[in-house]
Amino acid sequence: MRCPYCNSDMEKGQLKSKGGVFFLPDGEKSPKLYTKSQMMKHRAVYLPPYVNFFSAEFPTAYICRMCSKIVIDY
Ligand SMILES: [Zn+2]
Repeated sequence: MRCPYCNSDMEKGQLKSKGGVFFLPDGEKSPKLYTKSQMMKHRAVYLPPYVNFFSAEFPTAYICRMCSKIVIDY
């Protein structure tokens, strides 16, 4: 998927909700600890605390790291 803002290739992953909501790229395992360094190691991106998301399912999401955008279905 192309980013609608900057037209770069977007990275596919999932939104997860454990210790906050974060984006996890495909092929990465969930961090065991939700520390900043662990999240960075797994190339995960924490969303701001105002994002609330409680679901047993992890929706597919596309991230653009260039302009800090995430696209998800609802
Ligand atoms: Zn972009």
